[in-house]
Amino acid sequence: MNDTQLLRYSRHILLDQIGIPGQTKLLAAHALIIGAGGLGSPVALYLAAAGVGRITLADDDSVELTNLQRQIAHDMNSLGQNKAQSARRRMQEMNPEIHVDAMDLRLHGDALDAAVAKADVVLDCCDNFTTRHAVNRACVRYRKPLVSGAAVRFDGQITVFDLRQDTAPCYACLFPEHAQDAEMRCAEFGVFAPLVGVIGSIQAVEALKLLTDAGQTLSGRLLLYEALSADWRSLRLKKDAACEVCGK
Ligand SMILES: [Zn+2]
Repeated sequence: MNDTQLLRYSRHILLDQIGIPGQTKLLAAHALIIGAGGLGSPVALYLAAAGVGRITLADDDSVELTNLQRQIAHDMNSLGQNKAQSARRRMQEMNPEIHVDAMDLRLHGDALDAAVAKADVVLDCCDNFTTRHAVNRACVRYRKPLVSGAAVRFDGQITVFDLRQDTAPCYACLFPEHAQDAEMRCAEFGVFAPLVGVIGSIQAVEALKLLTDAGQTLSGRLLLYEALSADWRSLRLKKDAACEVCGK
């Protein structure tokens, strides 16, 4: 680390659980963020600020005025721009030392596999079950830790599927691929502005813990937040032996 980096990351270096070894791991790490919307905004900004050395950010959508109520990586200058490109600009303005790859596409198939294979941690910040399941399958295939977040109306949830471990559940253990009936999308249901900040920020927390081996992650636990009642709940998650994605 050079002098500028020692200064920029000094508040991380002061933390016993991170220190110079942990910050060095972050600078060498590669995070893949799927989606640069409500959840992807705080995830992308915090990972960039924290010095994750390489960040790949994928989103095929462009910024609209209705997004600016909660998608804080974008601003009025971003209107009409691709979300991954817009977020990349903000990330690099804050931290020009890291490398950000902005992918103007919805990752699927071979491109998704290739992106997951190269990442040390994957953050699911998307808004649809098709992508969530595709990302989960790729993470199971390449045994990558997946930090999953969701937020709609006033309710959010976060968990980690640490697929490096044989005993870890996957997203399909929790939500089987063929059991989805209704998509819960912001466009139809509304979403409370800071809710995506709360959930996305915890996704960033879990990703940084995974990358630095600090503390215990949310692997095997689903954290639920109800903003209206200010309630947090935590549910135990178990691997489903009959899961059609990660089971035998
Ligand atoms: Zn599974």
